[in-house]
Amino acid sequence: MEIEIKENIFNANDQLAADNKAKLDREAVLALNLMASPGAGKTSLILQSAKSLSDRLRLGVIEGDIASSIDADNVRSHGIPTELINTGGACHLDANMIQTPLAGIDLPSIDVLFIENVGNLVCPAEFNLGEHLKIVILSAAEGADKPYKYPLMFKVADAIVINKIDLMPYIDFRTGYFYDGVRALNQQAPVFELSAKTGEGVDAWASWLLEQWNERFGQGHGEPDTSR
Ligand code: MG
Ligand code: ZN
Repeated sequence: MEIEIKENIFNANDQLAADNKAKLDREAVLALNLMASPGAGKTSLILQSAKSLSDRLRLGVIEGDIASSIDADNVRSHGIPTELINTGGACHLDANMIQTPLAGIDLPSIDVLFIENVGNLVCPAEFNLGEHLKIVILSAAEGADKPYKYPLMFKVADAIVINKIDLMPYIDFRTGYFYDGVRALNQQAPVFELSAKTGEGVDAWASWLLEQWNERFGQGHGEPDTSR
């Protein structure tokens, strides 16, 4: 039966995701699964976060893209350890695809791993990769109706980022409508309004990341050791 097969695929994925997470936990690496439409600013947010966190947390990146190494090359050129996955057409990452790039990153030398998922607001929400936090990024220019159109994505999010707030004067982003849609699905997730271009609002997001690292790994590991 089709439903049964689908269930088995999800179970197998969740098992691999648990393996990935165990590996990350052993090295006190906080992993984030960044999900968004193409062009929402996932890569730019990674680069701004790196700038804001530079003396507090060491970052690594797994770049998932259907094709090309444009984003991976860009991130790597900033001196950030980066592994690339080309999915060859697949529209999302899964836990199995993460295993090789995860092995390619020197986990003891980083504190936070950004996993940039394939640009897509639909199926990435269905696959655990072993991340600690699922982050949904939306650019203000995409419009405030996204939680209504892609409810699963906003339901599973541990945090939501509204990027490109520098464009607000030029667009009609209905902020109240957006928050109503989000809160109907998800009461917990903090929402960060920021611009990865100008840097406005990025510090609040970066501080939250540091808090998330401390909550999980602060005891026993002390402060992240940036000297390693
Ligand atoms: Mg990108
Ligand atoms: Zn997909």
